[in-house]
Amino acid sequence: MDHYDTGAWILYRKNQIDADQRRLMEDHLATCDTCLQSYLAAAEEHETRLAEMLLPPDFSAAIKDGIKAKKRQADKKRRSRSLVNYTVAAAITLALMSSGLFDFFAREIPGLLAETGQVSRTLEKGARWDPGRFLDSARNQLEKLREVRGE
Ligand SMILES: [Zn+2]
Repeated sequence: MDHYDTGAWILYRKNQIDADQRRLMEDHLATCDTCLQSYLAAAEEHETRLAEMLLPPDFSAAIKDGIKAKKRQADKKRRSRSLVNYTVAAAITLALMSSGLFDFFAREIPGLLAETGQVSRTLEKGARWDPGRFLDSARNQLEKLREVRGE
């Protein structure tokens, strides 16, 4: 059985084959898998070229612009999310203030900072990092805090 090659099928798709020959090719195509493959390959080639002619020349540039616009939208979403985080932080601060905890820290932190400064100065004098002594002094400070709170 004679097969038609891809070139013949391209001519067929371009309507450049006379009617008698077309009918022969169609009959053959109905029964031949090999030519069906050639026909599909020809179709692909033909359609790709057709698509290239139909698509605007700035098609890929337009797609890239579209992607950039999507990215900008995502950035906006991220910004509003950090605004949400800020709002949550503000709400937590308000809750702490109303429960009096914030007041307590505001009163005690300056004193704590002064004591911490003393601790670091002592450490500098000692010239050697002594984690045991540091932990002891931290424990002392915690105990002082508990006394202040009356526990
Ligand atoms: Zn064939």
